Amino acid sequence: MSIKPTAEGKPTFGVEVNVIGDDGKPVYGPNGKVLKQKICMADAKFSDGSPQSLYFPAGHPQEGVFKGTAILLQERGFDVTDLRTQCPHFKCKPPMLDCCCCRLLYNQPDFCDVESMLETHCKARGFQVLFLPKFHCELNLIEQCWGYAKREYRKFPASSLEADLERNVVNALDMVPLVCMRRFFM
Ligand SMILES: [Zn+2]
Repeated sequence: MSIKPTAEGKPTFGVEVNVIGDDGKPVYGPNGKVLKQKICMADAKFSDGSPQSLYFPAGHPQEGVFKGTAILLQERGFDVTDLRTQCPHFKCKPPMLDCCCCRLLYNQPDFCDVESMLETHCKARGFQVLFLPKFHCELNLIEQCWGYAKREYRKFPASSLEADLERNVVNALDMVPLVCMRRFFM
């Protein structure tokens, strides 16, 4: 993000995403790679919850141009006159609160707590996403289901026939008690 609005003639700040066709699937180019397009970022939020566009509105002389971090912060009531754009290589020193415009903006609640697309999609469909701590699969309740199924699987007679193995897997999974599954989904 630049501190100033995007200069005239330069592509405005945005994010690159896959081109999605009418069938909801990515569109591929002649080179076999997924086609990309640049789109504007979604609105930020002021502390009162109202939207803050990151781009100048219709009718503005720089309509559709990225405002830059300084203006975004000023619109939030911050005085950034003497604030540097960004600490070198964005390696801010603790406490990393308001040492530079970038850090100050990134510390704003709406910037810190951006919802992932997964959460947005699930919420819209009435589901709540619960993220488990990374690298701690033992906390994932589905592991208890796998563990139970594997223990039951080992009780079946040994066989090298694919049909036997497939049947044993299905039977072992079917033997997982519902109470175990319920704990996973509740
Ligand atoms: Zn900084």
